[in-house]
Amino acid sequence: MSQPIRIELPFTLEDGSVNVYLFRKPEAVLVDAGYGDAASWTALEAGLADHGLTAADLSRVIITHPHVDHYGLAARIAEAGPARICMANVGVDWLRHFPTLWRQRIAYYRDDFLPGLGLTPAHAAAMLGWMEQTLAAWTPIPADRICAFPADEPLMLGGQRWQALHLPGHNAWQMAFYQPERRQLISSDALMIPTATPVVDAPPPGQPRPPALPQMMASLAQLAALDVETVFPGHGAPFGEHRAVIRGQLARIRSRADECLHHVQAGAATVADLFTRLYGDRAARVGAAGLWMAVGYLDLLVAEGRLAAERGAASGAWRYRLPSATALSNT
Ligand SMILES: [Zn+2]
Repeated sequence: MSQPIRIELPFTLEDGSVNVYLFRKPEAVLVDAGYGDAASWTALEAGLADHGLTAADLSRVIITHPHVDHYGLAARIAEAGPARICMANVGVDWLRHFPTLWRQRIAYYRDDFLPGLGLTPAHAAAMLGWMEQTLAAWTPIPADRICAFPADEPLMLGGQRWQALHLPGHNAWQMAFYQPERRQLISSDALMIPTATPVVDAPPPGQPRPPALPQMMASLAQLAALDVETVFPGHGAPFGEHRAVIRGQLARIRSRADECLHHVQAGAATVADLFTRLYGDRAARVGAAGLWMAVGYLDLLVAEGRLAAERGAASGAWRYRLPSATALSNT
């Protein structure tokens, strides 16, 4: 029986690396496909060669979620050989219709989400520019090579049955795979060190934005209930003691949310205000991830009734305040 073999690829969009996992037998299957640049391709080829394989030997590539560092090389793998590129049915439209869905996401950010944050125009423009770059880097995968699998049925990997787990939070389509006999979890970005980011995606048309951080916390709680010896994450080295890791991450989220509450009591009103106070000098470096975290903490506080939010009619920015009975004066 095969174990997942970790191949670490460079991820040059920002500092760091991304993991792909290889099952050699009974058929060569890759979980995730790395970032789509030349350095990542070279690293993937070298990683496969260590096991006597090339990309042409792969029969399937399972994409855990539609983020650029996880599907990036999928089209190139499909070009190199017969591999089918598979994603859970909940997210497979991203492989089939990436440009359309990404343009919808850009429009949502431009017209609704970013105006709600109270950012400077330059900051909002930088975020939109980054999204345009992602669109320009997309390479289509031939439609007849794309396949979907049920998000709630077992998947055969390495000759064993892995439970597919749909774990929204980092994104709405996030999948992980669990092998109960071996107590192994391919967690992708649902559980890693450090804590994943609750990325904001465009909600389905006509629906409000789902609160990604509370969803992510529920997904972490679901993972904590599993009996796991080794976690194989989307980024970083495999690790154990997953319940202690999750406990620590949930505690950290709670203490940062409490910090947000104190900042609002002290006069911070918008996501942009909170972002500056939470990250200070590091704000430029944490970038979008920090904004998503700030949005997440505020979503959590609103969901728990500890903050109220209303959208400013003139500015379009969401303003946060204590629920009226307990509001403190800021003078
Ligand atoms: Zn990732």
